[in-house]
Amino acid sequence: MSSERLIYLPLGGAGEIGMNAYVYGYGKPGKERLILVDLGVTFPDMDTTPGVDLILPDMAWLAERRDRLEAVFITHAHEDHVGAVAHFYEQLGAPVHARAFTARIARAKMAEHGHPEKAVRVASPWPETVTAGPFTVGFAPISHSIPESSGLVIDSPAGRLVHTGDFKIDTDPVVGEPFDRAMWESIGADGVKALICDSTNVFSAHEGRSESSVAAPITELIAGCRGMVVATTFASNVARVKTLAEAGTRAGRSVCLMGRAMNRMVEAARETGVLTGFAGAYLALAMNAGFVKDMTAGRGFIALAALIFAKWRPVPAMMACLLFGFLDAAAIRLGGTPLPLVGRVPVQFFQALPYVLTVVLLAGFIGKAIPPRAGGQPYVKER
Ligand SMILES: [Zn+2]
Repeated sequence: MSSERLIYLPLGGAGEIGMNAYVYGYGKPGKERLILVDLGVTFPDMDTTPGVDLILPDMAWLAERRDRLEAVFITHAHEDHVGAVAHFYEQLGAPVHARAFTARIARAKMAEHGHPEKAVRVASPWPETVTAGPFTVGFAPISHSIPESSGLVIDSPAGRLVHTGDFKIDTDPVVGEPFDRAMWESIGADGVKALICDSTNVFSAHEGRSESSVAAPITELIAGCRGMVVATTFASNVARVKTLAEAGTRAGRSVCLMGRAMNRMVEAARETGVLTGFAGAYLALAMNAGFVKDMTAGRGFIALAALIFAKWRPVPAMMACLLFGFLDAAAIRLGGTPLPLVGRVPVQFFQALPYVLTVVLLAGFIGKAIPPRAGGQPYVKER
């Protein structure tokens, strides 16, 4: 029996949503050469983690062994897989490999933290591979709700490992590569030592629907609406953004993106050739213009208020957005550094202010902004 061994150590993401970070190692016990697959964050919620902006995995174990870390590989550009890449760059100091679209998102994070963008290297898809210590790693395209997702084919002296990353078996995903059954069969043809597989809704007995199946109903829905139509989706779901934009264009509407994350994703997809012929323009309200770092879900309310306000009164809307932008930026500036004389109270005040103003705006203008339904009945939310 060989004195060398293969190890697998999830530092986050196993049995939980978010914070994906998986260590693989090979070598003599205690001297294994290591690679890290994914380095993501998770998002707080008001029930369990109020007041927290972002949750990072605990990298202490790996940071102590950074001299044995060969490289970091990122499967795809969802925040729970790439979100912490810049936060830990200094602690880990290893090169990061990802495919072009994911690399573009990772580089933007590096630049925001003042780290060198060239630490992120662009990898070509399977059958190309990257060698890192005892491992050879290939990025095998797999369909998911974000472009250029990859399963990793990790060859080690102990055999082939397949780390699927997140995936959805979609043969017509609108944007990105369709699921390629023949390629995956060939990857597994000579046997696989371990399949490391994780996907949301894995316990559902029903097959997921293809992204291409939603285009027709969305088009019909938008064509049947009067006035402005507002749609929400994850910014990273570039295929859905494209479906919505095309449906809007077909219905004779101008398409307008809102939010910094939305703009960043669409730009990355355009630049890397993933998204072509996209007809949307970016609505550069001050709140979108880059004041907000680490966007959290709560700020969506500000976007909603801005939208309603913009429909009602465009000029004051721009001014309000500017105000929100500055308040938000001030809250972030002050967030980590409580004022020494008065403790945390003023910090929380600043953090709460944009939300309070949002609620006031919503309460004040929602009635005027949303026209009554046909027959003069006020709008009532249907359950
Ligand atoms: Zn994902």
